[in-house]
Amino acid sequence: MRRLLSAYLLPLILHACTGADWCYQTQASCESHCKGPDRWSEVNAECGKTRQSPINIVTKKTKLDERLTPLKFTGYQELFDSSVKNNGHSVQVSIPIKATVSGGNLEETYKAVQFHLHWGVSGGPGSEHTIDGEQYPMELHIVHMKQRYSSLEDALKDPSGVAVLGFFYEESSISNRKYDIFTHALRSVQNTNENTTLRKISLNQLILPEVNMTNYYRYDGSLTTPDCTEVVVWTVFENPIPLKSEQLLAFSALKFNDGKAMVGTFRPVQPRNGRVVYRSSGAVVVASAVLLLASIFTAFGLSHLN
Ligand SMILES: [Zn+2]
Repeated sequence: MRRLLSAYLLPLILHACTGADWCYQTQASCESHCKGPDRWSEVNAECGKTRQSPINIVTKKTKLDERLTPLKFTGYQELFDSSVKNNGHSVQVSIPIKATVSGGNLEETYKAVQFHLHWGVSGGPGSEHTIDGEQYPMELHIVHMKQRYSSLEDALKDPSGVAVLGFFYEESSISNRKYDIFTHALRSVQNTNENTTLRKISLNQLILPEVNMTNYYRYDGSLTTPDCTEVVVWTVFENPIPLKSEQLLAFSALKFNDGKAMVGTFRPVQPRNGRVVYRSSGAVVVASAVLLLASIFTAFGLSHLN
């Protein structure tokens, strides 16, 4: 009996000790043996390549691209029922309807597959992308793949097979009522592999009206979790979605697969390695208008008015 037990248990123990699983920095510790972000290239060599995501977007180094016209959406207004799941690393919602994005210099039409989020510790910094070094409290990723593929597996073989739309959140003093259904559902998926049904939600209700869909950044990158596949055309929107601190905190009540609080679910920013980040004509206009006014005031010797 003892021999039988060890025959079964030994591989399990060895697996836990060698730590083949990846995890976020908040989970990586001597006891957990999982591989934190600095060791993801041991999980998959692709994580150590040169067009990785997320990145810090330095706005003054972005390049204006007139081809980045407003994106075209279909199905984003449609209400659907879906399953929301705690997958051990995040909370993920599958998109069972046909919702697509095209235009804005995307090569072709991409269809939405799922969305998930990345957040910090108790409403603290938690977005994956950062803008001029600023990390927002949370980031939404709506994952799309080229419409012509029937599986994500096929799309992952195409260097531009996946398009992810990234949206930031900011803390607001007012509750965002359109998120109530979603944040309430989180109570039913606190543990890994739990899922529940989300009723009557639409993609638009997550992002509108706060996000100005014409202001965004574009660059070529990767998935931000192993296997870190370098197939993603990233669109990162400039305007954040407001959420009250209680709503942001609802995400920190979830638990990782090891039972610890699911917090700090973001990969640190990766080297840009010479990649150009393009901006649509709407992005960072406010900042340039302020600078322009400031220079006009200065030119007329009216700088004391600032
Ligand atoms: Zn993501």
